[in-house]
Amino acid sequence: MPAGPRPNALGTASFEPGRLTRGDLSLGQHLGGPVSSPVMIATGTRPGPVLWVQGAIHGGEVGGTLGIARCLNRLDLSRMSGAIIGVMTANPLAFRTQARNSPEDGENMNRVFPGAEASTITRQMARALMAAAEATADAVMDLHSGGLEAIVPFYALYWDDDTPASRQAGRYARSAGTETILTARDAWLSGAMFTQLTRRGLPALIVECGGAEVTDEQIENFARAIEGMARAMDILPGGPLDQARYRRIGTCDLVFTRESGFFLPACLAGDTVDVGDLVGRVVDIFGAEKELITTPKRAFLAAIGRRYLPVTAGAMIAELNDDLGWIKGTPAPSRARRSRFVPKRLPLHQRTHGRGWRQNR
Ligand SMILES: [Zn+2]
Repeated sequence: MPAGPRPNALGTASFEPGRLTRGDLSLGQHLGGPVSSPVMIATGTRPGPVLWVQGAIHGGEVGGTLGIARCLNRLDLSRMSGAIIGVMTANPLAFRTQARNSPEDGENMNRVFPGAEASTITRQMARALMAAAEATADAVMDLHSGGLEAIVPFYALYWDDDTPASRQAGRYARSAGTETILTARDAWLSGAMFTQLTRRGLPALIVECGGAEVTDEQIENFARAIEGMARAMDILPGGPLDQARYRRIGTCDLVFTRESGFFLPACLAGDTVDVGDLVGRVVDIFGAEKELITTPKRAFLAAIGRRYLPVTAGAMIAELNDDLGWIKGTPAPSRARRSRFVPKRLPLHQRTHGRGWRQNR
């Protein structure tokens, strides 16, 4: 809960009971003027908590932005308590050029939180974004994907430090419409917005889905993730959107190519891979096979590069997360359910969905 009185507006968008409003939120100053994100605010007819949802903190990850618009436009505000804020482009500079990082300073905005006042424009925007979220919201959902170069499965992640805010974020993650939950403690995520917010007592999580080619199914997953979290917060009726079981994944190992060429994935995002399984291969510009990339551990494939992704030696092409099995106390998956996670050894010409590039959070 924000300290002090709640503002009745965010940027130029206002909280108006029973209405969906639009406006702009200024995050910084650029040579050409203000740098701002479009915002939507859906306000219910009754008072209640406020959920902050944002997309495109990595500029090319537009599925979340589309999911926010889909979700907020279809809400029945007469059945809603509180509000849902949609910040459409959390990094407007990166969004404008569809780049992962801010072109002006090359910074990855989701590594520089809590930001700083006297620093790069990306760090200034991070500071402004975080201050606005802390002043208005009771919880935050940050939407990501594999961007233009990679594909990720549909999963939720939260910072697991066993504080009240972390445990609350875990409850919201379990209501995000997916049974795959990453409990993150990796040091490289310490500058991510969800980590910093959780450490400061505001529950926050990330939802990842899709990439490379945005599909309606991915947009729908994002929209349902927002609805699920809003249900868990009692903004929408119906109670938490619990799944029958949850698959836990943990620490991430990154996979890099040794050779330059084109990457051909051999797995699908979300597959379970075992020691020695083929993740993908690299072919050179003459079509000759240069490298076979295999996995060193049993893992959940949380990102993989798209088919024919041009890569330079040392390019990251997959994320392998520890497979921690099913959350204690939930029923073991049936044989049929378990089969969903068996690696799909498709003929090479059908192996089209791989994706993994940079770390995606
Ligand atoms: Zn991302």
